Amino acid sequence: MGKKLQAPRGTYDVLPDDAVRRDHVEATARRILGAAGYRRIETPTFEATELFARGVGASTDIVQKEMYTFEDGGGRSVTLRPEGTAPVARAYLEHGMQKLPQPVKLWYLSSFYRYERAQAGRYRQFWQVGAEAIGSADPAVDAESILLLAELLESLGVRDVRLRLGSLGTPKTRAAYRELLQRYLRDHEDQLSEEVRARIDLNPLRAFDADHPGTKAVMEGAPRLLDHLSAEDLDHFAEVRALLDGADLAYEVDKTLVRGLDYYARTLFEFTSDALGAQSGVGGGGRYDGLIEQIGGPSTPGIGWAAGIERILLAAGEEPVPAPLLDLYVAYAAPEGRATGFELCWEARRAGLSAQFELAGRSLKGQLKQADRSGARFVAIVGPDGATLKDMETGEQDELEPGRVIPVVLKKGKTLA
Ligand code: ATP
Ligand code: MG
Repeated sequence: MGKKLQAPRGTYDVLPDDAVRRDHVEATARRILGAAGYRRIETPTFEATELFARGVGASTDIVQKEMYTFEDGGGRSVTLRPEGTAPVARAYLEHGMQKLPQPVKLWYLSSFYRYERAQAGRYRQFWQVGAEAIGSADPAVDAESILLLAELLESLGVRDVRLRLGSLGTPKTRAAYRELLQRYLRDHEDQLSEEVRARIDLNPLRAFDADHPGTKAVMEGAPRLLDHLSAEDLDHFAEVRALLDGADLAYEVDKTLVRGLDYYARTLFEFTSDALGAQSGVGGGGRYDGLIEQIGGPSTPGIGWAAGIERILLAAGEEPVPAPLLDLYVAYAAPEGRATGFELCWEARRAGLSAQFELAGRSLKGQLKQADRSGARFVAIVGPDGATLKDMETGEQDELEPGRVIPVVLKKGKTLA
């Protein structure tokens, strides 16, 4: 016998009780997003590496160090999707969705892959629910998108939620600001972390995200992008805020908010939960008006978000999982009852009941114990001369023809329910 094998580091198994919780997240997302006109989309697990290199941005952590990239048998470079927005944008373009009424609203719930340091709330394969609205720059789309994530988190019982909101302006205003920030960073280069120093040219905005104490101190005094937006960007941002205010959604304007993807423009937001430890980000997103152009399409606005399923579940706390329902357990009193019982069990399922048959060769006593453990409402014991039906709730017992078991269960089950 070889060494006992385990799931790879940073991955985990979704066990049945966890699956019940995840089903609930999925059903809630479907209800809330569906009511707002979002329709489900699922893209492939892997994509051409170029999609992420171009769509997520070469300077991002994701592209620089977190991607699972490999060559397939045909020598093409492919990457396990690290995020969902670039693939959805690709699908929008590939399927000519710009011809549909805009914005096109799409949602997904899929697994994603990032090679990062595995810890609580941070995995190498994780799941996200996400929503994208592509084809309109109207600030109402931004507000609706943010409100939908807020509602989802609230409906799922995510505790101590906080929303931070910012605006990045458009690439043009950002370019001017970038130069200003780069100048400021160079003036304070000796106090910055090595990582931030190395990225002054490539991605100076990420300096706001740093944990390094010296860098943090420098960033306190850094010029803020929000103070350098154009009048149009400011108007757009003000309208988004006014709509959120009208909907009574609390948020904090954060002038230092940056996120790990390069394609964002204008609105940017992040939901955190104080119920989580260091990995406090539950979900976030923003407007990505440059993305579709970046991947070879016409200039098309879009906005969306993604929220981590594991972190949602962690921040929502453990709700007890209800035991699965079992209407009927079919036991057999003697080997002659086995074939009849097996058939009865299938018939019960066809009649819409949940039913299980003895599958482990237990003695009759063992079968009854198993029926009890399974929480069966009724037990049918099939023998050579008929069946005994026991109502586990009332203790009532009837002798009857096997063919009568299902009608009686259906009738009795109904009167009590
Ligand atoms: P973080 O700051 O925690 O690294 P991020 O900025 O990389 O998050 P996004 O790319 O915006 O996160 O992904 C959206 C959400 O997906 C996050 O808020 C988080 O809930 C979840 N998420 C991201 N990376 C992971 C991971 N490795 N494991 C589990 N959940 C994750
Ligand atoms: Mg990350």
